[in-house]
Order: sequence, then C-alpha cells, then structure tokens
Amino acid sequence: MTKRLLIFSALLAFSAGGLRQGARAEDMVRNEELLDKLVAAYPDFLASHQGNSLRWKDGTEMAFDDGKGGKDFAMRLDAPDLEDEFYVSYPVGRAGIPPGTDIDPGRVRYEPFFAKMYGDCQKAGVAGKLVDIVWLPKHGGKRIKITAVNGVAARLQAVSDELDRLPESFMHDLTPSGGTYNCRVIAGTSRRSVHGYGAAIDINVAASDYWMNSRAVGGQYPYKNRIPWEIVEIFEKHGFIWGGKWYHYDTMHFEYRPELLP
Ligand SMILES: [Zn+2]
Repeated sequence: MTKRLLIFSALLAFSAGGLRQGARAEDMVRNEELLDKLVAAYPDFLASHQGNSLRWKDGTEMAFDDGKGGKDFAMRLDAPDLEDEFYVSYPVGRAGIPPGTDIDPGRVRYEPFFAKMYGDCQKAGVAGKLVDIVWLPKHGGKRIKITAVNGVAARLQAVSDELDRLPESFMHDLTPSGGTYNCRVIAGTSRRSVHGYGAAIDINVAASDYWMNSRAVGGQYPYKNRIPWEIVEIFEKHGFIWGGKWYHYDTMHFEYRPELLP
C-alpha cells in the first residue's frame, strides 16, 4: 500500500464518514504531500513536518495552512500562507500556455518562508550570500550575482553552461541578462520580488513580454511569448520555474522554486 493510501484509509477510519469528513481527509492527504515536497525541495533548511507544522532545522515551526480558507485572487497574492502557493500546480515541460485567467503557478509566495532562507535585503541580509557566476561564458561571459543559498548559484551556473551549448540563434533571447539580484518590490505592489532574495534571473528584456506592458482586451490580457521551449526546459531541469507560464506573464523571468517541480 502506498503512503498516500495508508494515510487516507487511516483518516477515513477515524472519521465518522460522510462527505465533509471525506473532503477534510482528502485535504489533509494533499497537505501531507505538499509538505513532503517542501521538505524534499529545501533539505538545507527543512527537517520534517507534523500535522499543520513545518519544522525547520533550527527548531522553528511554521504553519502550513493559516486556516483562513477560500481567498480570492488578490487576497491570495497579498496575504498568502504556504498552502496558497500550491493553489494551482505548475505545468512542467511544454505545457500550460496560454494559461487560463488568473492561473499564475508560482506567483504566490509566502514571504516569511523565503526571507528566512535567503535573508531580508532591506536589512542587509542578502548581499553577503551572493556570489558571482559567469553568464554564458562562450557568449560574452558577463559576471552576474546570485545567492549561494540552496545551491542556487551552482544550479544557475549549470543552466548557463547548458544554454551556452544551444545553437547561436538562441543567444539573443539569453543575452544580455536583464538582471539577477535587486532589492525591490514587484512593480505596482508592496510584495518583495524574488530578485530581492537573489534567487531569480531575467533573460534578455528585449526578447521578452510582460503582462503589464500589454493592454487588456475585454477584461483579458492577451498572452504573448517569444521565448522558445528549449530554454524553458533547461531552467526547469535545474529547479527554476518560468514566468511565461503565468496568466500575468513575465517571459524573461525564472526563479528557483524546486517545490513546484517534480
Ligand atoms: Zn524577473
């Protein structure tokens, strides 16, 4: 019997049955699986989980679900918990575009979780963890700064080395990099950008599309993208998700989010 089945039947046995308990048991199973993914994705920081608690290696406990239930799209972005980050699954590989309305897998981030690992750039907590890597050594080889936390710098160097071997026709999409570390909020919001943690990179701005630069037609943002799948696949292989899979698309943007990838 799989772990999932074991937990599920145990939960059912303890419940009095009925739809509500069934649904609650299913939520608990789902949360268990997501907590497993988080612990596996960040082994340098996370030790284990129990019930609704995520246990950090320093002994801290962090709630997974804040119990506030159904949040609307804006609330989920502005006041999420860890559970809200998984409100929709990230489609790996050549899938997921164009995304449906408000489908932004990975764009919801519980900031205390990321600040605890990467530091708070407004309190000078990030700069000391940044290291230099060479972006596309065979194609100009500019140095860029990226966090060493969670092995992100080594992983981005591996991405860069692989991208560097793609045919020349891909290089315009990749160079120059639009930037990595930048202690800023996301345009038009008070939310910290993943660039502020040093765990994101923008590829060539001139080859990219951003939802805020487009005009809504009939209340919808028409999807635009010029970044080829070959580039996206290499980033995903090393733990980075792509902003091109968001309804609020940002096709130059990649960030380290291994908990959303297989
Ligand atoms: Zn970005």
